[in-house]
Amino acid sequence: VDLGGTRLRAVRIDHEGHVLQHRSVATAATAGPEAVISQIVALVEQVMDGVSRADIEGIGVGSPGPLDPFKGVVLRAPNLHGWVDVPLRAMLQERTGLPVLLNNDGNVAALGEWHLGSGRGCRDFIYVGVGTGIGGGIIVSGRLLLGRKGMAGEVGHMKVQLDGPVCSCGKAGCWEALASGVALARFAQEALRAGRPSSLHDRAATQPVTAGDIFAAAAEGDALALDLLQQEGTYLGRGLVSLLHLFSPDRIALGGGVAQGMAWLEPHIRSVIETQAMPPFRDVPVEYAHLGDRVGVIGAATLLLTPMGDQ
Ligand SMILES: [Zn+2]
Repeated sequence: VDLGGTRLRAVRIDHEGHVLQHRSVATAATAGPEAVISQIVALVEQVMDGVSRADIEGIGVGSPGPLDPFKGVVLRAPNLHGWVDVPLRAMLQERTGLPVLLNNDGNVAALGEWHLGSGRGCRDFIYVGVGTGIGGGIIVSGRLLLGRKGMAGEVGHMKVQLDGPVCSCGKAGCWEALASGVALARFAQEALRAGRPSSLHDRAATQPVTAGDIFAAAAEGDALALDLLQQEGTYLGRGLVSLLHLFSPDRIALGGGVAQGMAWLEPHIRSVIETQAMPPFRDVPVEYAHLGDRVGVIGAATLLLTPMGDQ
């Protein structure tokens, strides 16, 4: 189950990652936890599709954080009304009679890519999701890095520029504030307001510029769009260099909406790694994640495949 602020998705998968059933509904985000949990229970029944409980290993749930994966409690879900200290695992276990595992959306996406996508076969692997924010998860020596209180892997809040823009966390200079989709759109708006000529002016006149608009303009050779993507790739590269040095992964995968522009971003990411990483770290592959927009829900299911230590 992928509990998103706008969509609630569920799949039933087998050990090889084949999706046997899938369903999604709009999340009743304003209706409070009880209503959303009823939605989850209904979706689970639908994707079980008559399969007996004895043949289901359990339910993995990916949720926005912060949450406590050891206790199975969502501490706060910013886009869901009334979600404060919700014991989601216990509530779902009681309602479904199945074992439930819970982790945050970045960690489950990393697990999904590790088990079934671009990280398959890696002992050490990092997934970075670049969308509205920047989230991710870190696999170290064949285990998901959880850290104290299960809070490790908040890659988006690495400081990459001390005097940088203010982040969603309220502090300045986080990677997320420089390289997320929201940051990319903000840099685009600033450049347009400053009068840079660009085909993006037409789009900006009717609606906010998105990463997708910038990719489309870059494909037409728009100079501003190409500059914005060079900057985006450079900022992404800075954070990735720190991750390379800290964790020495076998591979890094980038997912999320902004990573769909990997073709434009990759040369700039590479150029930062080639100049800023210490030489023995430079050959690590950085590639586009394989599972696309199902990474969250497929990844949640792979919680059942993952040794989680003290849970
Ligand atoms: Zn931050």
